[in-house]
Order: sequence, then C-alpha cells, then structure tokens
Amino acid sequence: MLNLDKIREDFPILNRNVNGKPLVYFDNAATSQTPQQVIDVIVEYYSKYNANIHRGVHTLSQEATDLYEQARIKIQKHFNAKHSHEIIMTSGTTHSINLVANGFSSLLKKGDEVIVSALEHHSNIVPWQMLCERTGAILKVIPMNEQGELILSDYDALLSEQTQLVFVNHISNALGTINPIKTIIEKAHQVGAAVLVDGAQSCPHIVPDVQALDVDFYVASAHKMCGPTGVGMLYGKEAWLNKLPPYQGGGEMIAEVTFEKTTYADLPHKFEAGTPNICGGIAFGAALDYMNAIGFQAIASYEQELLDYATAQLNAIDGLKIYGSSSHKASVISFNIESIHPYDIGTILDKMGIAVRTGHHCAQPIMDFYKIPGTVRASFAFYNTKDEIDVFVSAVKKAKMMLS
Ligand SMILES: *Cc1c(COP(=O)(O)O)cnc(C)c1O
Repeated sequence: MLNLDKIREDFPILNRNVNGKPLVYFDNAATSQTPQQVIDVIVEYYSKYNANIHRGVHTLSQEATDLYEQARIKIQKHFNAKHSHEIIMTSGTTHSINLVANGFSSLLKKGDEVIVSALEHHSNIVPWQMLCERTGAILKVIPMNEQGELILSDYDALLSEQTQLVFVNHISNALGTINPIKTIIEKAHQVGAAVLVDGAQSCPHIVPDVQALDVDFYVASAHKMCGPTGVGMLYGKEAWLNKLPPYQGGGEMIAEVTFEKTTYADLPHKFEAGTPNICGGIAFGAALDYMNAIGFQAIASYEQELLDYATAQLNAIDGLKIYGSSSHKASVISFNIESIHPYDIGTILDKMGIAVRTGHHCAQPIMDFYKIPGTVRASFAFYNTKDEIDVFVSAVKKAKMMLS
C-alpha cells in the first residue's frame, strides 16, 4: 500500500494551480514530475560539488567524480547489469539508440535484415532507417493487431539467418501495451540476432533485470522516472560494447591522442565523449533511490488500480473509444470521442487544470494503423489519485458536451 498523502507532499509541483484549478498531471508518459528529494540533490550538487569529473587533481573534482560513479553503480544494481562499465551514461533514450544504431553501421552489410515493431516511438524507428540507408540493410516490421499487440506468429516468419538486429519497446508510449520481450529476445537469439529494448516507458513502472532477460541492449531516460531531463542510460553487454566503434570523438573517450593515431578509452568512457550531464547523472541515481524506497511492486499494483478505475469510467462515456486493449497494459489510456479532434479536448481539459497529451505521441505508424490523426492520452503515475481521475472523467464529459 502506498502512502499517497506522504508521496504527494514529496512533489511540490502537485500543489500548484493551472488556470485557477488544482493541477491534475496526467502526462506522465511524456515526462514524470520530480520529487523534492531529487530536487535537493540537484541543488546540493551545484551548491557544494560542482566541478568537472575524471581529470581533476583537486578535491571538488574528486568528490564530483565519486558521486557520478556512484550513480553509475546505482544504475548497474537497479538493472542488474553484470559490470558497471556496461552502463553508458547518455543524454537519454534517443541518444542511446542513436549510439547503437551508429555503431552497427560498421557491422552491417547490404542485404542484412533488421526488425522493428509496429508499436515503436519515432526514436526507435528513425535511427534504424538512417542505419539502413547507410548500409543497405533491410528494415522489416512486426505488425500489430486491433488490440494493439504485436503479432508474434508474423515475427517468427520475419526472423531468418539474415536478421542481425531486433529493436522493440518494452512498453508502448502511445497505447501502454506491455510487449512480451523475453519471448522476442529468445526468438531473436535463436537466429543469432542482437536485441535492443527501448525501456523509456517500462522503467517508470517495473524493474527490468537485464541479465535475466538476456537482452543485448536496454535503454532508458531518467526524466520518465522522477529524474531530470537530458540524462539517461544505455546498458549493453560487454562483448557488444567492445565490438561497437565509438559514437562521438572528443575528450574523455580517448586513451592517447597524437595526430598520427588515437586510441580509445576503455568502457564505459569510450562512449562518453565530452563533459557529461554530471548533476543529471547524480540526480538519476537519486531518482532510482526514491522510487526503490517506495517499491516498484507497490507502484505497479497501484497504477494498475488507477488504470482499471479510469478505463471503466471512460468506457461508460458514449462515443468514447479507447485504443489499445491488451491484457498486459501499463497505466496509459489513449482515446478519442467520436470525430472530435483530440487537440480540442486537450485544450478544454487544460482550461480545467488537467494536463494530458494530444496528437500522434511520436508514434505515427500506430495512428496510421487505426486511421486516426491522433488521440488524447492520459498517463498515470504512482502519485496520481482516484479523486483526480474523477475530476478528469467529469471534465472529459463536459468537453464532449461542449464540442459535439
Ligand atoms: C519518451 C520515449 C522515447 C524518447 O525518450 P527521450 O528521453 O526523449 O530521448 C523513446 N521511446 C519511448 C517508448 C518513449 O516513451
């Protein structure tokens, strides 16, 4: 059981009003809110430790380095990676995916095949399309069904000796579908293909165990799990990270530089060119501490309650259609009402202090599948309440009345 009163006190932003109404923040799939405990770590960093890391002889630099490397170890432990150097600090999911896609440019040849799913965020589509353009590899797509689930029998048919890579999200940001990634990974490995899992939407709700999953690459963003924006991580199996060439050149990622030849630093620094988001990395670690102290089991079961409660109430509204009805679903509800434009509903909800997202949610192929321009998306976090859902549902009814 979560102590909601206590949890809500941790999030100062939940006290503010928007357009004269108490904020109801249901845009958690776009970014989560930040608890005071993480804000304090950010303030403390700039008040006490701010220095560049890794090369400093002075005390501040050493302290900042220690904090940053401790954060890496927190991330390693959280995801159960075997080695801390298998955790590459990045600016987020998008950066992590581009790093891997760029690295595979030198490993793929014309005619090789890579497989994406129909449920992906643009971040997990476009870098691979660019990779295919560079290498002549062929992009294949695992199709989805009306419920918003991947069709695994079609996936079986796509896999072959030519398949080099499969990339799929753990949870869809647009529909909330939880994909059977363990099965997807096992099947890919049977043909010798590597798998990258986009965990941007799963990490706020569940704890992925990268060793148990036997996943080759797993990526996430801190800002969707109570951390700051502009920081995230790439987990990669040591053997893969050693095989991939560096992504960016610069300081920090080198062992030795001369004008004749440069040798690269060992993992993880080989992939960490330039001064990173030091404070962000440390705050990412603090966000993991915060969420782990609450407990992911409790978070997931409470969010399931919120999802069921909201789904039942929204389904009772005439003309409202929810997209994505997988039995394995995270706390995301995408919907439309008759032919009302999602943007118009979102605008009216905002007038009532309610933050939802409208549009294609960076997943245009899913919208094309349903032949719609977009949806209204409400996404819940563990600090949301049933009372807020009541406010939201009556606001949706009001919006419907005003617009139809
Ligand atoms: C948010 C999101 C991304 C992109 O994350 P950034 O932090 O913007 O890089 C990628 N994939 C999914 C599934 C997402 O939800």
